[in-house]
Order: sequence, then structure tokens, then C-alpha cells
Amino acid sequence: MVTLAIRIATQTVIHACAIGNKFVKSISIIVKPLYSCNASCMHCSITNDMPVILPPSGVSESIKNIVTFAESYSGDTIDEINIILHGGEPMLLDVSYVNKMVNLLKNSLPLIRCNYSIQTNLLSYAPQWRTLFEKVFEWKASSSYDFYSSFRKTKNGSDYFTAWYDKVKRYQDDSGRRLYTICVLSRENVDYVEDIVREAYSCGLNIKLNMLYAAGKAKHMDKSLYITQDEYGNALIRAYRIWKTYNDNNFIFVQGNDFENIAIYGKQLGCPYTSSCVGNIFCLLPNGALYQCGECADAKQFCYGNAMENKFDITQIINANANNIDISEECLDCGICGGGCLLRRVTECSGKTPYCSTYRKLYKEVKTHDDSVCQTNKCV
Ligand code: SF4
Ligand code: SF4
Ligand code: SF4
Repeated sequence: MVTLAIRIATQTVIHACAIGNKFVKSISIIVKPLYSCNASCMHCSITNDMPVILPPSGVSESIKNIVTFAESYSGDTIDEINIILHGGEPMLLDVSYVNKMVNLLKNSLPLIRCNYSIQTNLLSYAPQWRTLFEKVFEWKASSSYDFYSSFRKTKNGSDYFTAWYDKVKRYQDDSGRRLYTICVLSRENVDYVEDIVREAYSCGLNIKLNMLYAAGKAKHMDKSLYITQDEYGNALIRAYRIWKTYNDNNFIFVQGNDFENIAIYGKQLGCPYTSSCVGNIFCLLPNGALYQCGECADAKQFCYGNAMENKFDITQIINANANNIDISEECLDCGICGGGCLLRRVTECSGKTPYCSTYRKLYKEVKTHDDSVCQTNKCV
């Protein structure tokens, strides 16, 4: 998938929180048991350079080893794991694979609560998956579709939207929910952002607007397809304005919702609005390699070893964390994202995320909107 959905399970930065009197430490693990896919999108971050499949026993053993590693690194006892099944396309694994994985984890980590979610293109969604989606994933699924874009491709050349939306409707009928959908913005569709929000609403989707970035196959795309931070920031503002015209609390524009949480409610959010993801998020690859996250795996940065072989390199995680300690005064004062994504700061050799100007713009828009609502309602 172009952009993963860590957020499905880790919407906020609750890596350690109190439930009643109990202090709960949780981590998130993006599990990529395979890289193969039944689609062939032009901008896929996966280049299919790993033909192996990690079996359920490999996933369970690896996660057990990750828990020991994370506990020894942090000194905390882990109570909860958010497991995000990812790929490639995870539904190419059958229902019995997932059931087996879940049962093995239940047996090998009896004291840890495992919450499951899935990032999928849904193209394989069929009645035999319904129970699993309901009981195991509790309908926490995310998918991707890029409106007004030519990037999404099926393998047999049929129309992607027709194939995908047919399955989306089945998912919606079964779950009674809107589907969390990631849409990538590029030069092809950035001018249609208002229409994208409208389409998302009418198709029963919640929408997240990501910016095309150079990873995997997208690295080889025409550079003119990439939009700038300025264009991206403006697109998010336009999307926010149109979203606010909908009087429906069930309809979520993800970045709008995130920035309301940050700007209006003062919440601290998780990836990518954090500089403290190290040790709280991991990504397991088909060959057992363990990375900081899916994006780091795509960029081959911050590899912590091989979880299946139980071989970890503590110096790598210490090194990753060292990059997170040195936050500028400006970011500490600003408070929007604490300097933002570790990977982006390291690859851009910058103390701040390259999304800084975009975040500031959207923050200002959301604040201004909120203040004007307050003025209108005479609540100031
Ligand atoms: S659906 Fe498209 S973007 Fe996602 S893994 Fe498959 S080919 Fe890649
Ligand atoms: S200055 Fe930029 S990078 Fe730093 S916290 Fe604010 S928005 Fe984030
Ligand atoms: S490195 Fe960036 S993308 Fe990866 S988990 Fe941290 S904030 Fe998210």
C-alpha cells in the first residue's frame, strides 16, 4: 500500500495510558507477511523484491520476540499490542491463515491483549471473510482509492474503481460503516480536491488525503506528477472548508479531524504528528526483518534486526531514539507535531518535518474556523 494505516489502531499517541488505576503500555506492530498483491498500482511503495511469505507461526514467534525486545529496551511490561495486518495485499492470505495466526498469538502471549486491524485493497472481500472482519478486526479496516487519478490498476486491466467499489459496498452492507480510505494527491487530481471530498461523502467513505511521495515504484514516476508542500497545504485547506459544510458527524476527513484534535482540543497525536514513535511502533516484514515502521522499511532506514531469528540490534533503536531527543526550541514552543516524523527529518537532514509549513497552514485554518464559529455563537 502506498501509505499505511498505522492510525487505524493508533489514532492517538496512547502508548502508555491509565485505564482505571492500571497503567497500560501498548505497542503497535505493522505485520507484512507478504509483499505480493492482486493489483498493480503505478505508485505502489512495494517493489515486490521479497517473494517469501511469513507463515502464521513465523508471525507469532516474531511478535513474541518483539515483545521481549521492546520490554528490555523500554523497561516497561507490555499489556497490549495493536496488530495491523498489511502487505502487499493481506487478503491474498486466506481466512485460515489469519485464524491460525490469531490462535497462535493467543497461546503464546496469554497475558497480552491483541487488537487487530487490516489495511487492504478489499478486492478479495467475499462472504467467507465476513465473520473474521467482524470478530477479529471488529471492522477496523482501511483501504485506498485515488479519485481522479490513473495510478490505480487492476492486474487484468479492468476498471479499478468498479472492481473496488463493488467490494466496498459489500463491506459497508456487512459492517454498516463508512470505509476509511486513503487517497493520494498528485498533479493529476490535486485540483479536484473539493470533488474528492464530495465523492467520498456520497460513496460512504471517510477520507484521508496523502501526498504522493517517492517510495517504491513511485520513485520512477514523472517528477512533474509530484505536488509541492505548498500545493498540498492549500489542498488540505480546501478539503477542510468543504468538509465543514457537511453536517454529519459520521463523515470524517482525517486530516481535518486530526487538526481539530490538535488545534482545538490540544491533543497529542501519533504518527506522523509525533517525534516519539521509536519503541512504540514496529514493522515486521515477510522475511522477519524488523523496521521502525512501514515507511522506514520502504526507505530501508532504521532496521532493528530480524525478529523471526530473534536477532536484534539495540544500537539501531538507540540511534533512532537519539534522533528524536534533539527537538528544536521552535518545535517545542509550537507544539503541533514536536518536529514530526523521524524518518522525514533524517532523510531530509532537517530538524523539522518537511510537512511543517503544511501543518502550520492547516492548524491556522482550523483555529480561525473555530474562532469564527465561537464569535458567531457568541461563546467568547
Ligand atoms: S493495492 Fe496497489 S498500492 Fe496497494 S499493495 Fe497492491 S499494488 Fe501496491
Ligand atoms: S515548527 Fe513545524 S515541525 Fe516544529 S512542531 Fe511546529 S509544525 Fe511541527
Ligand atoms: S518514522 Fe515517521 S512514519 Fe514512521 S512511525 Fe515514526 S512518525 Fe510514523
